Amino acid sequence: MRVFSGIQPSGELHVGNYLGAVRNWVALQDQYQCIFCIVDYHAITQEYEATALAERTFDMAVSLLAAGIDPQRSVLFVQSHVAEHTELAWVFTTVTPLGELERMTQFKDKAQRQVSVPAGLLNYPVLQAADVLLYRAQRVPVGEDQVQHIELMRGVARKWNARYGDGFFPEPEPVLTPAGRIVGLDGQAKMSKSLGNTIGILEGPEQIWERLRPAVTDPARVTRKDPGNPEVCNVYALHQHFSPSATVEEVAAKCRAAAWGCLDCKRVLAANITREFAPIRERAAALQAAPEQVREILHDGAQRARSLAAETMSEVRERMGFLSAEGAARPR
Ligand code: SF4
Repeated sequence: MRVFSGIQPSGELHVGNYLGAVRNWVALQDQYQCIFCIVDYHAITQEYEATALAERTFDMAVSLLAAGIDPQRSVLFVQSHVAEHTELAWVFTTVTPLGELERMTQFKDKAQRQVSVPAGLLNYPVLQAADVLLYRAQRVPVGEDQVQHIELMRGVARKWNARYGDGFFPEPEPVLTPAGRIVGLDGQAKMSKSLGNTIGILEGPEQIWERLRPAVTDPARVTRKDPGNPEVCNVYALHQHFSPSATVEEVAAKCRAAAWGCLDCKRVLAANITREFAPIRERAAALQAAPEQVREILHDGAQRARSLAAETMSEVRERMGFLSAEGAARPR
């Protein structure tokens, strides 16, 4: 069983994409053949800084490796290093109905915020379909917000198969990330670096505390003496991800009984986040000191990905009736 998943080159990982994706990826390596891709072609569908793209891609690779992606067991590579992604995406645009792309919720949300909507934004899910199907992956770990794109991907595989190759492409199934939606430290929006409501996984103890200290809690706790409800507090939600179960129970009990203040509660959380990230920071520092090692891993990953991708594309071209580039210049 093969798994494919991609992540945007947003630089250092943060708590949101660590809990929402990468911690699960690390675990999936024990059960599946995994292919992980830093999807830089997806990143250019919205405004971005060209001068920072390479550095952010490199930093994301460092974060992924430091967090536990193991290049011996999994393939880790950069999307633009494997040209077949865009080739297959073009092929898929010819079987994807325009109306289905226009109905995608993420497209509608993002398009609303653009003065002029680039076609790349509309075709984003077609490129996603190509990313996964190029490796004929059967499972795609995603958050709830990506399930609609997986449905579209399954439809693309069905339509292409119906025209060119009975059962050639599998219809991938989503594997929902156990952590679910990770709410930011503002207690409202999804955690994201651009909103500044998160913590970077390579940040030190002081920075972690600086970010956690002002985090929004249960608004009913105006003073230390007011009992709170942990179920409505995002700090408690983070305790559930980072603290041992005995601590989580203690947090809930002390909150309900007003036995401690929110700052006490946050200090315990900060210590547990720091403890989880300490070995990751250490591995990241070692990788940053040896950038050629990271480049080598990405180079090797791209080679392994290219060899799988070439097999798929050769079969795709043949089934679609293209004239082979090898051998005779004209068909006999
Ligand atoms: Fe949230 Fe902890 Fe404050 Fe309760 S004590 S409201 S769980 S931060």
